Amino acid sequence: MKLKTKLSLGLSFLFAVIVAFGILGFFYINRLSNDADRVLKNNHESLVYANNMLKALEEIPSKKAAFQLFEYNLERQEKNITEPGEKESTEALRKNFTELKANPSDSSNYPQLRQSIQVINDLNQDAILRKNEVAQKTAEDARFWLTLIFTILIIVSITFIYNFPAIISTPVTKLAEGIREIANKNYKQRIYLEQKDEFGDLANSFNSMAEKLDEYEHSNLAKIKFEKSRIETIINQMKDGIIGLDEKKHILFVNAVSEKILGLKENDIIGKYAADIAIQNDLMRTLLQDDSRKELKIYADEKESFFNKDFINVKANDAVIGQVIVLRNITPYHELNEAKTNFIATVSHELKTPIASIRMSLQLLDNKQTGNINTEQQLLLDSIKDDTNRLLKITGELLNMTQVDSGKIQLSIVSSDAKEILDYAVNANKSAAEQKNIRLDVNIVPNLPQVAADNEKTAWVLTNLLSNAIRYSYDNSTVFASIHATGSKIIFTVKDTGQGIAPEYKSKIFDRYFRVPGTHKEGTGLGLSICKEFIEAQGGQINVESDYGTGSSFMVILNAFPHTLKGSSATTS
Ligand code: ADP
Repeated sequence: MKLKTKLSLGLSFLFAVIVAFGILGFFYINRLSNDADRVLKNNHESLVYANNMLKALEEIPSKKAAFQLFEYNLERQEKNITEPGEKESTEALRKNFTELKANPSDSSNYPQLRQSIQVINDLNQDAILRKNEVAQKTAEDARFWLTLIFTILIIVSITFIYNFPAIISTPVTKLAEGIREIANKNYKQRIYLEQKDEFGDLANSFNSMAEKLDEYEHSNLAKIKFEKSRIETIINQMKDGIIGLDEKKHILFVNAVSEKILGLKENDIIGKYAADIAIQNDLMRTLLQDDSRKELKIYADEKESFFNKDFINVKANDAVIGQVIVLRNITPYHELNEAKTNFIATVSHELKTPIASIRMSLQLLDNKQTGNINTEQQLLLDSIKDDTNRLLKITGELLNMTQVDSGKIQLSIVSSDAKEILDYAVNANKSAAEQKNIRLDVNIVPNLPQVAADNEKTAWVLTNLLSNAIRYSYDNSTVFASIHATGSKIIFTVKDTGQGIAPEYKSKIFDRYFRVPGTHKEGTGLGLSICKEFIEAQGGQINVESDYGTGSSFMVILNAFPHTLKGSSATTS
């Protein structure tokens, strides 16, 4: 039965009982009131008339008013005959009174008159007694029925008070408990209610919702498991090493490649704090410490492999919830690059000898040792000489680049005379400067400390810087070359007054193959990148300062040779 019906029935029943109680109470009170009224009207009035008639009879015949009083009360009595036998007595009373009125001195009627009045009196008194009994009976009936209904009312009310809160609170408590469990993701929770009312319906709906959530979670779990194993398969198939860390740097997963290169088994390290593993494992230490994307050379699986390390933050709602270390296997590229470097080195090397011999032959032709040459031939010779020099420069740069690439820069850092190095570079560029009528202004501080440098490489760098300064300067200008010392540093400066370098390209000119867009001079874009490698390999630095339109200034900073440090002053030569 529905809760609404139950409540309606219960309240209707209570209402009915209250109404019955009211009607019955009203009925009995009404009946008792009627009985009392009747007694008062029917019998008590007759008693009063009889009494008045007796009093009047005492004064008859002496007082004339006594006759009138008797007559008046007799008339009233004749209109108030209510009891059986009262009528006969009243008629006898009338008859005797009429005779008395006709002959007032005759007192023989007195006893009969008194007797008739007495009979009326007795009849009404009996009736009063009888009616009193009836009223009492009515009162008793009323007490009985009203007590009965009252008792029922009390019982029903108590039952209602006792049971009703439970009817509401029990299912509500059970439902609240169920909802709490569902909130805690316990989708197995069910609510069992015997009731077939609205709460029963609610419990059924709750149960089917929990069932659906349970199914959904299971299907989701299966999906997640499937996705997990799919991703695990993909990760394990990868040639790159993958290591997953949570936000507290505990290891979540490692793939097969990582296992190999770390030399550890996944089961031994899963869930462990990565820093703890790093104590025993050099590679893990490197991975965690060094955040740069430097190339890692790893010897694993009996061969040398190269990896690029990448740190990827895993984010959820902008918060970092973990990291993935990706070790990109760049061995194939490395091998290809090595092959390319070897090829370039071989080709450059093989080209260098024939080009040198061409240059030698050109010099012989130029010195006219093989005979005189005419003006046209001289022009052709000059052009071949230019191209040969360019080719030599290119092959030289390429060879140097292959040295840098293969990590085989062989340095011989010795205590060197900085002036000698610069002089060499200046001499190498003299003829080029003359061709453009450029003055080379050299400024070397005397008593300079010795510089800790590789003579050949540093001379190559300065030659290259001067060559650039001359190439990118206007004709008839000046290129400045200087050396000075600051603290324990020796600083070589090559300054020109050419067009300079636009600010957006300043950071790029040291990149390999980079050439400022619109540069018309011939070149490879390799020179400055090799300069940087050569200088940094010696522990030095190379910088550029340039104002677009007014020229550039390149600084090479190298360490002074420790035992030769002394005071210095500036002079011009
Ligand atoms: P390149 O063989 O092209 O000269 P470099 O590596 O020596 O290669 O120089 C890279 C680029 O930097 C040049 O192409 C040029 O645009 C710019 N550059 C180098 N030196 C100067 C300079 N002194 N003045 C203006 N631009 C220069």
